[in-house]
Amino acid sequence: MALIVQKYGGTSVGNPDRIKNVARRVAQYRAAGDQIVVVVSAMSGVTDGLIRLSKEITALPSEREMDMLLATGEQQTIALTAIALHSLNVDAVSLTGAQAGIVTDGVHTKAKIQNITPREVHKLLDAGNVVIVAGFQGQTAEGAITTLGRGGSDLTAIALAAALKADLCQIYTDVDGIYTADPRIVPGAQKLPEIAYDELLELAGAGAKVMQLRSVEFAKKFNVIFEVRSSLNENPGTIVKEETTSMEDVVVRGVSLDKNQAKITLFGVPDQPGRAAGIFRALADAAINVDMIVQNASHDGGVRVTDLSFTVDKPDLLKASKVIESLRPTIGFKEAESNENIGKVSVVGVGMRSHSGVAAKMFDVLAHEQVNIDMISTSEIKVSVVIDLAKGETALRALHKAFLE
Ligand code: ADP
Ligand code: ASP
Ligand code: MG
Repeated sequence: MALIVQKYGGTSVGNPDRIKNVARRVAQYRAAGDQIVVVVSAMSGVTDGLIRLSKEITALPSEREMDMLLATGEQQTIALTAIALHSLNVDAVSLTGAQAGIVTDGVHTKAKIQNITPREVHKLLDAGNVVIVAGFQGQTAEGAITTLGRGGSDLTAIALAAALKADLCQIYTDVDGIYTADPRIVPGAQKLPEIAYDELLELAGAGAKVMQLRSVEFAKKFNVIFEVRSSLNENPGTIVKEETTSMEDVVVRGVSLDKNQAKITLFGVPDQPGRAAGIFRALADAAINVDMIVQNASHDGGVRVTDLSFTVDKPDLLKASKVIESLRPTIGFKEAESNENIGKVSVVGVGMRSHSGVAAKMFDVLAHEQVNIDMISTSEIKVSVVIDLAKGETALRALHKAFLE
């Protein structure tokens, strides 16, 4: 008897028929004698709808109350999924994140899992139930409801698989695996039979929202091997695991486009020790993740100043702009500007470690497409550039053609 954790995303539970479809799949696995823990997301559009509702009241709602609000999305789905299983005569019990023993820190809307005590899950499994756990949510040690960042049901599934020492972790979604690029944007994208944690980390960090970034970090840390596959067919999916030597034979594994970043530029920052520290410490204290940073020194009437640009997640832009404005008297910059119309395109592959020329080829392809490069960042296995959002999809398709077709 195996213990299997299955996660079904928003589209896979997007309407009553889809929920019944999930229940049929789960019932089949259960009939084979395995123990099943099911993690579900909110029905597609529900989380976005709740966010929209709050924005109709105020632009910057309390993050604690946002967690209280957003956690209701997943709570609907767990109950509906349990009801669907009951109608197939399968014993099933739904649990909130808190009831499943998921304890997080108190950083509302982006909480980190601190520990999981799945006593109740084990008890219910041992009594013969399918256990359905609400994704994306947890509870602080003090009892406040938290959420784990957008896409966080992936993290719930991976973390539960680790805590339960599951034999199998399956992430069911609306594509049948991880592709060389988002198949909705690049028609020639190909399904990958396997991918290394590090490659998926870079792709997820670069906008491939097929898996939440933090869930992949967690999987790598605790060596949770998982499969990404479709809830709508039986095709084999993509296995995500530690790198193997044969993976290095492929120079570029995939390309991605992140449309969810915004850029802030500070002009005329005094070029003195401690200014950057002051800026990024304040952003970190406000739990704002900064991705790319570029700094250019120049002279302003004989005084050395720098222009500092960095990117943040688009939903954090307003909050970040407020933090920056509050720093104006202490940091002493001249002007701050923000731009939401940026896209980040990236090429990723562990094979890059032993191959040179990937960046040069990427820049050639972009030049050929008349795409201007605004910012550049590289890691051992990735090259990312920030460009005009309007050219993002064209750039992605051109890079896919050049590296992967
Ligand atoms: P779920 O609701 O199941 O969590 P998501 O919408 O979060 O699903 O993620 C699945 C989507 O990720 C796909 O529909 C696809 O458009 C997108 N995607 C982006 N990049 C990739 C990629 N490289 N491979 C597969 N899907 C990708
Ligand atoms: N419902 C949450 C979201 O839309 C979590 C998830 O779907 O994984 O971000
Ligand atoms: Mg998702």
